[in-house]
Amino acid sequence: MSYRIAVVGGGPAGLTFARVLHRHGHPVTVLERDPTPDARPPGGTLDLHEGLGQLALDKAGLLAEFEALSRPEGQAMRILDADGTVLRDWQPRPGERANPEIDRRQLRDLLLGPLDVQWGRGVTRVVPGTRDGALVHFADGRQEAFDLVVGADGARSRIRPAVSSATPHYTGVTSVETSLDDVDTRHPGLARLIGDGSVAVYGVNRSLVAQRNSGGHVKVYAKFRAPLDRYGNLDPADAEAARSSLLALFDGWAAPVLDLLRHGTAFVHRPLYALPVSHTWTHAPGVTLLGDAAHLMPPLGAGANLAMLDGAELAEAIAAPGDLDEAVRAFEERMWARAGRWAEITTAGLERLVSPNPAEALALFDQVQPS
Ligand SMILES: Cc1cc2nc3c(=O)[nH]c(=O)nc-3n(C[C@H](O)[C@H](O)[C@H](O)COP(=O)(O)OP(=O)(O)OC[C@H]3O[C@@H](n4cnc5c(N)ncnc54)[C@H](O)[C@@H]3O)c2cc1C
Repeated sequence: MSYRIAVVGGGPAGLTFARVLHRHGHPVTVLERDPTPDARPPGGTLDLHEGLGQLALDKAGLLAEFEALSRPEGQAMRILDADGTVLRDWQPRPGERANPEIDRRQLRDLLLGPLDVQWGRGVTRVVPGTRDGALVHFADGRQEAFDLVVGADGARSRIRPAVSSATPHYTGVTSVETSLDDVDTRHPGLARLIGDGSVAVYGVNRSLVAQRNSGGHVKVYAKFRAPLDRYGNLDPADAEAARSSLLALFDGWAAPVLDLLRHGTAFVHRPLYALPVSHTWTHAPGVTLLGDAAHLMPPLGAGANLAMLDGAELAEAIAAPGDLDEAVRAFEERMWARAGRWAEITTAGLERLVSPNPAEALALFDQVQPS
């Protein structure tokens, strides 16, 4: 039997779900709010883990293409203290493919492939049916019924309220993101500091991480503990105001480290939110959630990986012979258990990476990094 299935959101979760269903020959409607694929900047590079994001790509039949595009050298990681002293300098061994990096745009295009996404189709809410299926309400006032609606619409999901009253809470940590372009030609000193992968500097309740993307592009993340409204009145368009407030916050750090902020272009202010660590809901036929919509957690390198594996596993469950609702119910139990474990890890990790004691961050690195 062919079901009418819609996925709301064309991020890592929604596209992986759709691509794996497509591979199994099942039609799926992808509803994406953005009017075009490049309507927004795609965001920084992602490292895809062997047992998570890479496994999902394997299920989509895309692992070989990922391997051709990804950057294993991007796994390199250097840690400095605030004075600029190198504390750790980890380089991946030749052939190391545990967590290679890929630009988000490249990953999106890889997943998009033959998919026919409906762009500019923002969903406002979903109403589960009294017996089965669900009704999708669109921003333009239209409605459409499906046997299953999959909410893969991220942190501020409009589908989540159909199954859960949980809302994301502020973690106490804010991230401000900036970028450097053509780093190898325009800022060779910074290019050496960053190396092939990332450089991280941990201080008291704050950190600076610079990460190389492809094409000489670098993303810089300043993270710090602050009340939610501390920088709430900063005009995001006023790069100079953002720069000087960050330089004041990181005052006294080594000059080459501060150059990461001095040369940054635009600044994006991103308070970090998370759902409760073990977020589950009473199963509702006709609607489910994937990725950040289901388990938003601190950004410590797991969210997109989990989102992709959620998508691949739900698609495989639906494609297997059997009852649709039973497949979704069994998948949810599996997703909740895995996401709960990662939410604990990333919540504890954020406490240690943006900590009153910077030695905690180093200890965490030594714990997780292969020697
Ligand atoms: C600074 C930062 C760095 C990160 N680094 C990493 C990393 O290195 N590794 C990692 O694994 N994870 C990382 N993450 C987390 C990762 O970005 C997310 O977990 C991941 O993008 C979640 O994927 P998703 O598909 O669930 O949601 P999203 O990526 O948020 O995609 C949701 C999609 O739904 C669309 N949408 C939203 N609302 C609607 C609507 N109402 N109707 C229709 N469409 C809608 C959006 O436009 C979007 O395309 C990072 C996050 C941040 C903030």
